[in-house]
Amino acid sequence: KRSPERKYVFYESGMRERSGFTLGLESDLRRAAASGDEFELFYQPKMDLLANRVIGAEALIRWRHPVRGLVSPAEFIPLAEETGLIWEIGAWTLREACLRLSGWLRRGLPVGSVSVNLSPRQFQDARLVGFVRSVIEGTGVPPERVELELTEGAMIGDIEKAVTILNELKDVGVRLSIDDFGTGYSSLAYLKRFPIDTLKIDRSFVRDIVKSSTDPAIVGTIVNLADSLGFDTIAEGVETTEQADMLMQQRCTRIQGYLISRPLDVPAFERFLAGE
Ligand code: C2E
Ligand code: CA
Ligand code: CA
Ligand code: CA
Repeated sequence: KRSPERKYVFYESGMRERSGFTLGLESDLRRAAASGDEFELFYQPKMDLLANRVIGAEALIRWRHPVRGLVSPAEFIPLAEETGLIWEIGAWTLREACLRLSGWLRRGLPVGSVSVNLSPRQFQDARLVGFVRSVIEGTGVPPERVELELTEGAMIGDIEKAVTILNELKDVGVRLSIDDFGTGYSSLAYLKRFPIDTLKIDRSFVRDIVKSSTDPAIVGTIVNLADSLGFDTIAEGVETTEQADMLMQQRCTRIQGYLISRPLDVPAFERFLAGE
């Protein structure tokens, strides 16, 4: 009878440790979100291969934790969503990206647009549209140079409400794209009602495009769909020239990925823009 008891105690202490880990991270994230000081944005260029030019950059958040070191967004964004801290973090991110963009434009750097990721909970927050408008006005950036990347997951549920919010964001003048396109649930009936600019083809379709017998056709179908709805396309996660060639064959000429560049810190991104 002792052994199950011991097992139970062992299991329980394991659980405590794990929740202690999460609790520690949560209170650290709370502190980081309040100041913003531990976050940094990296920028990954987006290229138009046909025009051979940089069309923009995606801002990707990094957390420099004083003890844990660099924590990946895949680790803390879900926690930020759960705890609601995503509002503060997302607010910091949009403001930081727009301030940076404003500086680049003032210096005449050919950056194109800057895109920022929005999680579902940010999209559904009643403060979103007013906040986006105030950041655009406050920083004075041309709104069409700012793009918001949303996943399909943010828009399921109340579609009417989603369409309303998207229209309000379009009224502010920002560009909108659907991130990770092809992995979610948007039906064609809804897609045609979304006032968006770009479908961002998910990395999963790019990864195997060279050897897959179906993925080139899937990409081609997404490009045709985008054409008929008046959207642009861009492919993410492009790592090889073979993948880029296959994408070009399917008329997807805009790409983002390690083939062009990894996400870069600000000095490195500025050197990239300067062609160094
Ligand atoms: P995402 O929006 O799909 O961003 C693309 C992710 O793929 C980034 O990871 C990027 O570094 C990575 N990546 C880019 N090119 C390649 C490639 O060629 N190959 C491979 N294997 N990966 C590539 P990262 O920066 O770790 O971000 C992960 C996710 O975290 C993002 O996925 C996004 O959903 C979320 N995220 C990042 N920054 C923010 C933010 O500021 N706010 C919110 N709400 N979410 C963010
Ligand atoms: Ca994204
Ligand atoms: Ca993506
Ligand atoms: Ca993705």
